[in-house]
Amino acid sequence: MAGEPQADCLFCKIVAGEVPATVVRETETTVAFRDINPQAPSHVLVIPKAHYADAADLAAGAPQLAADVLREAGQIAADEKVVESGYRVVFNTGAGAGQTVFHAHAHVLGGRGLQWPPG
Ligand code: AMP
Ligand code: ZN
Repeated sequence: MAGEPQADCLFCKIVAGEVPATVVRETETTVAFRDINPQAPSHVLVIPKAHYADAADLAAGAPQLAADVLREAGQIAADEKVVESGYRVVFNTGAGAGQTVFHAHAHVLGGRGLQWPPG
């Protein structure tokens, strides 16, 4: 069922505390933790606790939860002090775009110059 934990999902395991992560913020509906392979000095992932495969599924199935994730991305940027210098919020969607974990997550990247367009 939409939103239910998936046994084979890495990020559901992080939500359940079965896989360790460096959690920097948690709300009733979201968790934010440091990316294990950071691509910028500040690289935090924000995920909904409920399982949705990608950002589009999340927005279609649980719009308030999608809003929660976006609000938390902004809060992380503030906590990481990258608002003034600028930061990027990225939802890789589909294997062809680099998505490797099929549990919706926002990458919040900052602390260095960010090229546009991204690669
Ligand atoms: P994506 O490639 O967009 O699906 O993003 C998945 C991200 O999860 C990658 O940037 C990985 O480095 C990150 N990642 C994978 N395993 C872990 C983990 N155990 N803890 C934190 N981040 C992880
Ligand atoms: Zn999941």
